[in-house]
Amino acid sequence: MYVTCIEHLDRAVDEFVEVYESPPDIYFLEKVTFTDWISPHTCDFCDHTPKYLIV
Ligand SMILES: [Zn+2]
Repeated sequence: MYVTCIEHLDRAVDEFVEVYESPPDIYFLEKVTFTDWISPHTCDFCDHTPKYLIV
């Protein structure tokens, strides 16, 4: 699972495909809610506010 900003979306998708060998599902972070998971405040690859959840 990756949480990324707009800039790093491609990179996260590339890594996901390498690791899991299948295309990920991509969600807008602001549109998903989790009861037991607080969304991270920073991108996995930089310090920007994340926009996407890649799972
Ligand atoms: Zn980023």
